[in-house]
Amino acid sequence: MEAIELKEVSAGYNGTPILSNISLKVEAGEFLGIIGPNGVGKSTLLRIMSGTLATSKGEVQINGKNIREYKRKELAKIEGVVPQQSFFSLPFKCFDVVLMGRFPYVGWREKHEDYEIATRAMKLTETYELKDRLIQEVSGGELQRVRIARALSQEPKILLMDEPTAHLDIYHEIRIFEILKKLNVEGLTVIITSHDLNTVGAYAKTLALLSNGSPRPSPQSGQIVKLGTPDEVLEKNLIEEVYHARVIIKEHPATHTPFVIPIASEE
Ligand code: ADP
Repeated sequence: MEAIELKEVSAGYNGTPILSNISLKVEAGEFLGIIGPNGVGKSTLLRIMSGTLATSKGEVQINGKNIREYKRKELAKIEGVVPQQSFFSLPFKCFDVVLMGRFPYVGWREKHEDYEIATRAMKLTETYELKDRLIQEVSGGELQRVRIARALSQEPKILLMDEPTAHLDIYHEIRIFEILKKLNVEGLTVIITSHDLNTVGAYAKTLALLSNGSPRPSPQSGQIVKLGTPDEVLEKNLIEEVYHARVIIKEHPATHTPFVIPIASEE
C-alpha cells in the first residue's frame, strides 16, 4: 500500500529556507489536510511530496523508496497532482483534458481502455456532461472537477491537491469535498492544503498544522507544530497562537467537528 514518508526534510527557494526538519508519514487511505497561515509553506510542502521541488536536506520516500529514484511516468501512476492553477491556452474539449491524464500509460496513441478510464473519472467527478465543452468555457467549479478527473485518470493511489476550493462558492466547495470523501472511502489517499479550517476540519481524518513560529520581520522556517485529528488540532490556544488571531471554537451542529469563528482582537 502506497505511503509517503518525509524524513527530516528541509526545503526552500534560492537558498531561503521555507520548511525545516519536517518528519511526517502519510499512510495509505489517509485524508490529510495541511493548514497554517498564508505563506507558511503549505504549497511548498505539497511540492516536496509530489517531487516538483527538491529537498535541501532529508528525503521523501514513497513506499520506502526515495522519490528521486522514480521515473516521471512511474511516479504519475502513484501520485495525481492538482496544483493551484493550470493554464489551458489551447481550445481542448474537457474530455481531451481528462484523457491527457493517461500520459503515464499511453504509447503512440490511446487505447479503448484509456477512453473508458477517462470516462469513469469524469463520471466520478460529475463532469461527464461537460465532455464536449471547451475547457476555457466552463465555470470555476466545473474546471476544478475536470482537473480532478484528469488527475484521477492517471489512476493514482494518492491525490495531492493545493487549495482545491479556493475561489469556489459554498455549493461548489462542498461538492468538491464530497467527491474527495467518496474517493477516499473507495481507497484513494487524499492530501490537500486548505485555508478553510472549518471545511477541511469536517472532512479530513488528520490535520497537519504548519507554523513558522514567529511573526515578521524575522520568521523562522515552517514546521509542523501539531499533527492529529481535527479535534486535537483545531484547539483554541493553538490556533490563536499560530494565526495571531482571536477565535471562538464551537461544535458544528451538523458534522460535530470543530467550528472556528474568528473575532476581533481587543486592542
Ligand atoms: P502557503 O501555501 O502556506 O501560502 P507557500 O508554500 O506558497 O505558502 O510559500 C511559502 C513561502 O515561499 C512564501 O514566502 C513564498 O513567497 C515563498 N515561495 C513560494 N513559491 C516560491 C517560488 N517559486 N520562488 C521563491 N519563493 C517562493
